[in-house]
Amino acid sequence: MQTLAHVSLLSCNTFGMEAYAAHYSELHREEELLSLKDNPAYSSGLFILGGGSNILLTADVPQWILHNKIGGIERIKEDDSHVWIRAGAGEVWHRFVLYCVEQGYAGVENLSLIPGTVGAAPIQNIGAYGVEVKDVLEQVRFFDLEQQAFRSFTQAECRFGYRDSIFKGAMKGKAVITSVTFRLDKVPVFHTSYGNIRQELEAMGITELSIKHISDAVIRIRSAKLPDPKKIGNAGSFFKNPEVPDAVYLSLKEQYASLPGYPLDNGKTKIPAGWLIEQCGWKGYREGDYGVHKDQALVLVNYGKASGADIAALSVRIMDSVKQRFGIQLEREVQIIQPA
Ligand SMILES: Cc1cc2nc3c(=O)[nH]c(=O)nc-3n(C[C@H](O)[C@H](O)[C@H](O)COP(=O)(O)OP(=O)(O)OC[C@H]3O[C@@H](n4cnc5c(N)ncnc54)[C@H](O)[C@@H]3O)c2cc1C
Repeated sequence: MQTLAHVSLLSCNTFGMEAYAAHYSELHREEELLSLKDNPAYSSGLFILGGGSNILLTADVPQWILHNKIGGIERIKEDDSHVWIRAGAGEVWHRFVLYCVEQGYAGVENLSLIPGTVGAAPIQNIGAYGVEVKDVLEQVRFFDLEQQAFRSFTQAECRFGYRDSIFKGAMKGKAVITSVTFRLDKVPVFHTSYGNIRQELEAMGITELSIKHISDAVIRIRSAKLPDPKKIGNAGSFFKNPEVPDAVYLSLKEQYASLPGYPLDNGKTKIPAGWLIEQCGWKGYREGDYGVHKDQALVLVNYGKASGADIAALSVRIMDSVKQRFGIQLEREVQIIQPA
């Protein structure tokens, strides 16, 4: 494995932040993990990088960046109703989705066009349009940096939650995910009730559903709705949608009649963070080269040469104003990378 010093990460993060890695290597094969410890860069600490679409770099990174490029998509078994596919952690997520759609393997079509890699998908249990990766995930294989051994977690062991998993909790910074195994359906179950998938399918003139049509509809909606990181730097939704006790939601609803809420089955209601942020007047806010997207209050953006520190500071101001007005503490979805 080649290790380079002082490498620009500009093209490795969707926010388009210019920052340098003190040490940088590409990881192409699992076996390379067994000798990581022998590399002098190991003592600087490790940071595993995928597509860089869920991070905000605020400064140069003193750790050793291990850029996961482990590829490969293979069918490992099947029965009458399911097929099991293992994908390398460095595969581009959308490429994996397109592979499944082409083969007629159902389950991930609603997750089309989410940026990033297969290996990062379980970290925050990516989700969109009524589907989360936990719904189709069978197993995660990873290298345990503490035990210096390969291990696997079943779906249950991953302890998935809303944009959450054990890899953001007890295993944070201790696991290098190397592959993910998915169990996909041979006979599709269509999820079209979320967002405006149905309207989009109608607009496309679709009368007979297929997973390809759903994938195409999701791609069309996302392309029209979300800013393209190649044009405006961003990392998608910057905040999670808060979940509050039903009683808190009902009391807020008395004050704010138009407050949207989606009841969950755990006595809580999910409130769209974008609505709260918009009510606080942030939508379209711009200062210099950073701000809040004009159409998506949940998306913080870099118009060119913004600094990660400015965007991180803006996120604190937004969180403070939502807390002050609604009493709700927003949580970030994007990981802010700061020097230790
Ligand atoms: C325009 C846009 C739209 C988005 N839409 C959605 C959406 O609809 N739904 C959604 O859930 N997310 C969405 N996201 C967020 C992002 O796409 C996901 O979080 C994605 O899974 C991040 O993948 P990545 O490879 O880019 O991870 P990175 O940003 O590279 O890393 C994220 C975290 O995972 C860790 N990590 C990455 N790979 C590994 C590995 N192999 N082993 C161990 N740790 C690892 C990193 O250390 C870091 O902590 C969006 C982002 C953008 C820019």
